[in-house]
Amino acid sequence: MGLVELKAELSQLDWIDQGPLLQQLSHDQFGFSPLLVPRLQPCCADLVVRATSTAEVIQVAAACARHGVPLTPRGAGTGNYGQAVPLEGGVVLDTSALQQVRHFDAASGVLTAEPGCRLLELDRWLQPQGWALRLAPSTWRTASLGGFIAGGSSGVGSVRWGLLRDPGNLLGIEVVTVEPEPRVLQLDAAAARGLNHAYGSNGIFTAVTVPTAPWQDWQELLLVFETASSALSFGEQLTAAALEIDGLCFLERRLLERMPALGDAAWPQGDALLLLAAPAAVPWIESLVQAAGGQLCWHRPQWPPRGLLLRELCWNHTTLQVRANAPDFSYQLVLLPDPVELFMEAIEQRWPGWLHWHLERVRQGGRLRWVGLPLFRWRGEAALEELNAALKAAGGLVFNAHAITVEDGGLGVVDADQVAAKRAYDPAGLCNPGKLRGWSSGAVQA
Ligand code: FAD
Repeated sequence: MGLVELKAELSQLDWIDQGPLLQQLSHDQFGFSPLLVPRLQPCCADLVVRATSTAEVIQVAAACARHGVPLTPRGAGTGNYGQAVPLEGGVVLDTSALQQVRHFDAASGVLTAEPGCRLLELDRWLQPQGWALRLAPSTWRTASLGGFIAGGSSGVGSVRWGLLRDPGNLLGIEVVTVEPEPRVLQLDAAAARGLNHAYGSNGIFTAVTVPTAPWQDWQELLLVFETASSALSFGEQLTAAALEIDGLCFLERRLLERMPALGDAAWPQGDALLLLAAPAAVPWIESLVQAAGGQLCWHRPQWPPRGLLLRELCWNHTTLQVRANAPDFSYQLVLLPDPVELFMEAIEQRWPGWLHWHLERVRQGGRLRWVGLPLFRWRGEAALEELNAALKAAGGLVFNAHAITVEDGGLGVVDADQVAAKRAYDPAGLCNPGKLRGWSSGAVQA
């Protein structure tokens, strides 16, 4: 690798070549998985470069291509699967300083922004104009737009808008190819599909176009029930009603007990639903919850975001909060079949009490479903494999949270669009190598 020459050629850029920052910018939040830690902890970039413009991204891409140096893009580094970890060293290209809004159409709500824009900052910019991002991970405050599109999957908003890869959630990408003479291409929604959730393995984004939604003054609500069964069926009833709901999370009582309280008072005991609901939905929810034998225990507007937010007890923040006091907990990601209670019972019968149930309501392929992020005390790799097999046997679709490749953390199958995009935009295979199994295995031929 011509690393010395590469750095010398671009000496005007902001390089990091040693010290704790080099380590820090080579890692992300893979620590949630005891399997990923030993695999990814030793990985370190030879160089990190912090680009401040598309022109600098082009220079870095060209130099890496000329010298045959691996190049791994990075946003805020909050991914859980080691998405931004350079498996083969080389250069980590930090795009978090690319933070311009390029274009916003206030009539349609279509937004084009640079990849380093933080999601919450985008919402702060959109809010006075009456718009908001459709989807955001629970890392809303810290995650970048580019990192979410390349590394994320779903989050708050998924109960209305579905998963990130659902058609309509990504409208275009400006991509810099990794070639000796990089091209800057404007991809439309169809062409951008192959770069959506491909872990930045098939080109470097310098702008992303997404739809936004009319702004709502979402209300944070916590509902508590006597039984998990009544909480789950109420969650299903609410999301099937004509009520605007942007997030709905189920936490079994043992998990609620482990969550930090949002206000001064401790949480009541019970199985919980954590909700983001439109103001007009709140009176309905108040009357319906009483009839269902539940209790409304917390109510606050989400905006302006201050202190700990309700969404920071949801999605993978539930895992974060549990692990803050019990780091031996890990989790798995699974799409549950209906009826969920039969599924949960099948797992409970085999391992009574092992899984602590955390579910999120999402729309998947137009249907309302529960996706589970159950937590459990880590019992080793063999136990995880047994659990994965049991989740699948009971009808679940496991998105393995302990895997390194796009495919193994996703549907398990190679996506030909992603591989074709890599062939077109990264023909030498330098971009985030080792993350796209369909490329490294040669599963899809030209
Ligand atoms: P990074 O981690 O920096 O990168 C993610 C991927 O994007 C990497 O593969 C990287 O190479 C690629 N990338 C970054 N910038 C570019 C670029 N300019 N061009 C090409 N590729 C690029 N995820 C969810 O989907 N939903 C959740 O609700 C959610 N909750 C989370 C909660 C916690 C507590 C944690 C730790 C993580 C959570 N995540 C969640 C995972 C992660 O936070 C999100 O996916 C987030 O959007 C990643 O953004 P980032 O800026 O940190 O990206």
